Amino acid sequence: MKAPWFAQLLDQLPLLNQLQRQQLLAALHPAGGLDRVVALIDEIRSTGRRCPDCACERCHRHGRANDLQRFRCCACGRTFNDLTGTPLARLRHKGKWLDYLETVLDSRTVRPAAKRVGVHRNTAFRWRHRFLERVKHDRPARLAGIVEADETFLLESQKGSRKLDRPPRKRGGRAALRGISHHLDCILVARDRSGQTIDAVTGRGALKVVHLVTHLLPKLDPEALLVSDANAAYPAFARAHGVAHQVVNLSAGERVRNSVEGAIHVQNVNAYHRRFREWLARFHGVASRWLPNYLGWLWALDGRRVTSIEQLLRIAFGVINT
Ligand SMILES: [Zn+2]
Repeated sequence: MKAPWFAQLLDQLPLLNQLQRQQLLAALHPAGGLDRVVALIDEIRSTGRRCPDCACERCHRHGRANDLQRFRCCACGRTFNDLTGTPLARLRHKGKWLDYLETVLDSRTVRPAAKRVGVHRNTAFRWRHRFLERVKHDRPARLAGIVEADETFLLESQKGSRKLDRPPRKRGGRAALRGISHHLDCILVARDRSGQTIDAVTGRGALKVVHLVTHLLPKLDPEALLVSDANAAYPAFARAHGVAHQVVNLSAGERVRNSVEGAIHVQNVNAYHRRFREWLARFHGVASRWLPNYLGWLWALDGRRVTSIEQLLRIAFGVINT
């Protein structure tokens, strides 16, 4: 619009009534969301921008497309934008992304989120897992001091899969076998006393030493004291890798034991399990394949660690530990 016309338009704004003002704001909202998200993407990605193909840091501007600046790599000549090679590449309706991220911060389920943002529920579901794909990797580098570890189990679910590898269960079904079996997904959680937490979906069935080696050992400070229940995998793991270890014998009624290192218990990690289950209940059963994303989502929200859509978008790009 030419400048004099725009000046005229601005002059007329005081003439609007309340309803018209609201209609105008609603009409401008997606564009406002688009401007904001484009500016945020540029801010997040401008430091360390490099070619997704050859990792060269030298590139020059190469026009705009789909509301984003395109770049051309000086080394290989490929063109890219700030979303290329990220889980957010080729997602549409950028003007609605920030509204959508609000629904993630609010833990909204798919239908209310879709309604709030104004997209189809399938889109809301697809966005959920695109935005969470890197959120699940945003984890502390180290667990130190007293580190509580314990596993919890959820009924394995193939929700949304076209082919099941077992007979279908009735709605709200239960495991066909008692105790820990291949009908249950095992989730390992380890949490130190400063609240740093890691988790891993180790697969169906009981926890094994190899799971602790894969998921816990790389994160465990060499001086850490591991505390667990009486599951035999923990002492075997601790002995094999020279990890200091104490057991709380829950089945013998022991809850807390005082030692020179501090209070020996697994109550923090069990409380985390409880928060995860209670929070997860709103989704009415999630597919096993998506469990890591939900664990990442809870870790972002737990203890109000992530409270703004800007922070969340940053983590969705894999800019982690901020
Ligand atoms: Zn390149």
